[in-house]
Amino acid sequence: MARRNRRAAGGGPRPLFGGALTHEERGGRRYAVRAVAGSAATKSYRCPGCNQEIRPGTAHVVAWPVDGPDGGGDERRHWHSGCWRR
Ligand SMILES: [Zn+2]
Repeated sequence: MARRNRRAAGGGPRPLFGGALTHEERGGRRYAVRAVAGSAATKSYRCPGCNQEIRPGTAHVVAWPVDGPDGGGDERRHWHSGCWRR
């Protein structure tokens, strides 16, 4: 009996926020950046780029420096996608 690889969508673990993690360099520091889908955004956040609220249900990005003392977890910030790219 041949075994088949499971190819159906939905297999495998899902990342915490449902988005892909990428790395970007900003002002000489390396940041981990994760896209947050609107469906995964359940709280409102303050965007440091424009100082406006990111409302629940809004797709945005989370960024934190990966060269911090504890991996940068304390410096995690939520940004509008457009503000982060600017
Ligand atoms: Zn913003």
